[in-house]
Amino acid sequence: MNNAVMTIVWSVVLLGVLAIIFGLGLAIADKYLHVEADTRIEDIQAILPNANCGACGYPGCAGYAEAIVNGEATSLSSCKPGLKSGCPEKIRAYLDEHPNQDGTINPIKVK
Ligand code: SF4
Repeated sequence: MNNAVMTIVWSVVLLGVLAIIFGLGLAIADKYLHVEADTRIEDIQAILPNANCGACGYPGCAGYAEAIVNGEATSLSSCKPGLKSGCPEKIRAYLDEHPNQDGTINPIKVK
């Protein structure tokens, strides 16, 4: 084989080895650095209007849903676009059915 072909072969082999090494690195990082997300955040976000207007004082509906689940939000009525469709009551009912991991129920008020 001439030099050009050998260069291509070694380049392909090197790229293959690097792909395997980086793939293993990502697999190990996924296994040991995996963060378990609270699925209630997504569920509450689905109840919210998802206008992402920021009127609640949080950075979008995902931020408000996270604040509700984490107990940082002080009221379920902060989402003005969701008041007419009954979002506060729906979220309150959802939180009552889905307590925290320690069994406690988030006491956040509807009003
Ligand atoms: S006010 Fe309601 S619709 Fe607007 S960002 Fe907050 S949760 Fe989303």
